[in-house]
Amino acid sequence: MVDDLYQEIILDHSKRPRNCHTMLDATGTAQGFNPLCGDKLELYLKVEDGIVKDASFVGSGCAISTASASLMTESLKGKTREDALQMLEKFHDLLTTDSPVTSELGKLVVFCGVKDYPARVKCATLAWHTLKSALTNSDEPATTE
Ligand code: ZN
Repeated sequence: MVDDLYQEIILDHSKRPRNCHTMLDATGTAQGFNPLCGDKLELYLKVEDGIVKDASFVGSGCAISTASASLMTESLKGKTREDALQMLEKFHDLLTTDSPVTSELGKLVVFCGVKDYPARVKCATLAWHTLKSALTNSDEPATTE
């Protein structure tokens, strides 16, 4: 079952999140908050020559939000700012529309099942909302509301 495999990946990333640390030489940071669930995270990005060289986060939240931040930071490395913003759009579409799953999202497709749980969609997209603030250097804290 594909669903079981996806569940397993989400569980793995929520228990052992990757890139879960602060970053002293970050070029962009942003904070995100999902009041619906209480998920909080702080995102760190190191962008050089328009390319995301490194990404990390710290935070406290539910399994979905933690796994999403973990998989997002993994997926971001080596992407251009434009690629990252495009990935954000595709990820958002995956969770909110019936658009077909695209292979461009790579491992991020594991979250496609979240679409069936509208309350959890914000948990899965929190890291991405925060990413947008970090990339656009907005001073406003990102919120899913
Ligand atoms: Zn949550």
